[in-house]
Amino acid sequence: MQEPVGTKGLIFNEPLLWEKGAKGRCGFSIPRRDVDAFPVDEAIHGDGPDFPDLGESDVVRHFTRLSQWNFSVDSGMYPLGSCTMKYNPKTNERQAALPGFAGAHPLLPTELSQGVLQMMYELERYLGEITGLSAVTLQPAAGAQGELTGMLIFYAYHQTQGRKRSKIIIPDTAHGTNPASATLCSYKSVPVKSDENGVLAPADVAAVMDDDTAGIMVTNPNTLGLFEDNIREVAEIVHDHGGLVYADGANMNAVMGIVNMADSGVDVLHLNLHKTFATPHGGGGPGSGPVCVTPELEHFLPTPRVIEKDGAYFLSENYPDSVGKIHAFYGNFGVQIKAYSYIRSMGADGLKMASQLAVLNANYIKASLKDTYYLPYDRPCMHECVFNDKFLSDFKVSTLDVAKRLMEYGFHPPTIYFPLVVAGAIMIEPTETECKQDIDMFIDAMKSIAQEARENPELLHEAPTTPKVRRLDEITAARKPCLCG
Ligand SMILES: *Cc1c(COP(=O)(O)O)cnc(C)c1O
Repeated sequence: MQEPVGTKGLIFNEPLLWEKGAKGRCGFSIPRRDVDAFPVDEAIHGDGPDFPDLGESDVVRHFTRLSQWNFSVDSGMYPLGSCTMKYNPKTNERQAALPGFAGAHPLLPTELSQGVLQMMYELERYLGEITGLSAVTLQPAAGAQGELTGMLIFYAYHQTQGRKRSKIIIPDTAHGTNPASATLCSYKSVPVKSDENGVLAPADVAAVMDDDTAGIMVTNPNTLGLFEDNIREVAEIVHDHGGLVYADGANMNAVMGIVNMADSGVDVLHLNLHKTFATPHGGGGPGSGPVCVTPELEHFLPTPRVIEKDGAYFLSENYPDSVGKIHAFYGNFGVQIKAYSYIRSMGADGLKMASQLAVLNANYIKASLKDTYYLPYDRPCMHECVFNDKFLSDFKVSTLDVAKRLMEYGFHPPTIYFPLVVAGAIMIEPTETECKQDIDMFIDAMKSIAQEARENPELLHEAPTTPKVRRLDEITAARKPCLCG
């Protein structure tokens, strides 16, 4: 095992700014006054806010130290599965900060917003080409809002067919937002179990699909990191009953430029620009969840829509069947620029290679660790692989212990206890940008932890002891949450 990286350095304790300040310190200088002093009316002005007096270094060091308590993709490997914490090239931030974009006001008339509208129009075309679903809206602010938009489109579609359906089929591997979005649209979720291979079996879908079911929501690749290889048969069964197929495309980074979603029978799909298309996320956003649909469903997309005529761009509200507006203005525009910049700088071949490398890296980890950690579905995976703690239970070591101990080896823990279909799940997504040396270090750390579990389980139960924050009392935190700061 190599010397662990990351958490063994100096970590400064840092008090609150209020505890740090001292009367009379000042962080800036202002020009000498050239008018007479004038008393401020204290009755109106009051005492002023209770801000501490601080010098410049006090403030700079305070926030720099706090930032050093954080772990990020810029400090090390971040193998969270289902979230795709990939490296987000800094050039995308630069493009998003260009004054023409950053200063564009959404209420400007379209003739003064041509560049902005062109960018949105072209991004829609790119996403249409990548997914095979050519009509796109950029409005939804996240994957979950994309799902809601998709469900509204399902509802509108069935309504124009003169029928009202009440159910949606959702596999047991689905992300929790899927049934939540369906419920918001008054659909009742009908769960379907994945088979022994971790994917949907057509017969199981056929058994529940009926004429009161609006369609199915399938995550592909699914949350076990497996490709739903029966998707065509499943789509056919749903379509035969007049239903629609929704694909949760949060895992699209495994199949960009490789799978055409329309060819696999999908009618509506959302993307997470903040997962697949290189916008940083975590801490709640901002995100972007564009929805891509077949040409037949285009007239239901939210308005306004960006349209092009003779090289000029316009916003059109003229879509009477539209599900309406689902976000202020046009969604999270800054995120759209970053995705556009990412797609343009990668090119078609680059995007395809990103997917291929993401899949290669995940399969390398899967193959390297499958004798050490239990692998419930031993088949080729996509961009992430799922183990669990079955081999460790004899030593009273759990998935949580492994995750906590990993921090002491300098790695952010992977996603744990998700997906729910695997008890004690450890879900690892290395992403395409990690090099072999870094992945090997992660594999070594995981193997070394499994060894410790056998020889010295106490070490894992107490972990982490070196990072800034030790093991938290999660039960008390859940039972008696402190909500007042
Ligand atoms: C992240 C994710 C979502 C939800 O997306 P948000 O952008 O977080 O709302 C839905 N499905 C899957 C599979 C996901 O990984």
